[in-house]
Amino acid sequence: MDELQKALNDKSLTISTLPEKGRCLFTTRAFFPGEVIISENPYVCVPNKNKESPQSKCEWCFSSRNLKKCSACHVVWYCSSKCQKSDWKLHSVECRALSKIDKDRLKSLTPSIRLMVRLYIRRKLENEKIFPTTVMDNYKHVEPLVSHMSEVDEKQLVLYAQMANLVNLILQWPDSEVNIKEIAESFSKLACNAHTICDSELRPLGTGLYPVISIINHSCLPNSVLVFEGRLAVVRAMQHIPKGTEVLISYVEIAGSTITRQKALKEQYFFTCTCPRCMKLGQSDDIQESATLEGYRCKDSKCNGFLLRDSDNKGFICQQCGLLRDKEEIKNITNEVKLISEKASTSFSSGHKAEASVAYKMVEELQMKLYHPFSINLMRTRETLLKIFMELQEWKEALLYCRLTIPVYERVYPRCHPLLGLQYYMSGKLEWLLGETEAAVRSLTKALDILRITHGTLTPFMLELLSKLEEARAEASYMLHSQDED
Ligand SMILES: [Zn+2]
Ligand SMILES: [Zn+2]
Ligand SMILES: [Zn+2]
Ligand SMILES: [Zn+2]
Repeated sequence: MDELQKALNDKSLTISTLPEKGRCLFTTRAFFPGEVIISENPYVCVPNKNKESPQSKCEWCFSSRNLKKCSACHVVWYCSSKCQKSDWKLHSVECRALSKIDKDRLKSLTPSIRLMVRLYIRRKLENEKIFPTTVMDNYKHVEPLVSHMSEVDEKQLVLYAQMANLVNLILQWPDSEVNIKEIAESFSKLACNAHTICDSELRPLGTGLYPVISIINHSCLPNSVLVFEGRLAVVRAMQHIPKGTEVLISYVEIAGSTITRQKALKEQYFFTCTCPRCMKLGQSDDIQESATLEGYRCKDSKCNGFLLRDSDNKGFICQQCGLLRDKEEIKNITNEVKLISEKASTSFSSGHKAEASVAYKMVEELQMKLYHPFSINLMRTRETLLKIFMELQEWKEALLYCRLTIPVYERVYPRCHPLLGLQYYMSGKLEWLLGETEAAVRSLTKALDILRITHGTLTPFMLELLSKLEEARAEASYMLHSQDED
């Protein structure tokens, strides 16, 4: 650890251990907004393949273009011989193991299983000095990651054991090298420590283990943000971070109420968050916030008050005008929403997008009667509608829904949150497409102000945003001049 501590000191960082939190990463100088605090290559990583992201991806760079299958194992894909070569040291061993397993077993080869196989192969190659280690890239840093084995429930333990069995079958190593119990514990470790690798627009691409970045703790009010540039994980300061401050990112969606966030953290990471937002749990402003985000709206459609359960348990009372909303009425609408949502989701996943858009609009209408205008549930429905209209290339409708989500985003995310930046970007692109040039300039400028901090300025993604903004600005000034001449 001393070696790592020294390397981190050179980056103006230091590891401290606090009894209630374990390891924490602190700054030893101030960081400015947008400054890179730390970046790390994955110790091991694998691309995802699921319903949300069905296309195959390059094993090394996660690209979906020009892919060729490895001709030996027929399991992994590469976009170029350069990527294949970069991955070869690890994959050559994995390839031999994968080639031996039968077709039926291949079907159960999930990304988690593959990540685990890769983890043990890399450790073995390191031990045999075939794979070089560096200060940051070293199995030494995987060892101290927490696993929370004693808190994992029985059902999950059985699942880990089954997965470990499969890993063991693939590796076919002697017991002296690795055993099922150890692999099962590593699965628990990955569940709390592995990161979802996303593209610049925060769409998931894969899963990776970044043992040094894993030292960084969670806050629902984070001062830093983790983004990926290909497989490289980059943590940037979202705001000015003074010297001697703990670096904090968010592990879960921070838009929800305190109870929702705490539940997510407890379930996946086994801790109770004590960030300033969570410390407000039960206080009046936290109760109001939760009721706004996840509660019901007032019966009077003109009233924007928030509702709390009444003491007789008949329903919910508006805290602004005192009107009661009946429990049964809420239940009926909720059931209707559930029914139509299921239909809508089935239509969408089976490719009937126009049908899905009609059904989700019905859901939206019902939810507008049910929830507060700043409701997260309503926001999610509108996000889905935005996605569907983008796929249908109905830009006008897409822009409408994009604009409806923005006020909620502005409310639930910090000023410099990447999701807010991306939503402004989407709005700007749609406005540009629809000829609303001045609005496009405004939205793209807002997007740039945020994303230059969260994403840096030099990636192809950011260069594209910059050139779009320049184009929109040029057109806006051209339009202004031609108006002057008229
Ligand atoms: Zn590639
Ligand atoms: Zn192969
Ligand atoms: Zn918290
Ligand atoms: Zn009211």
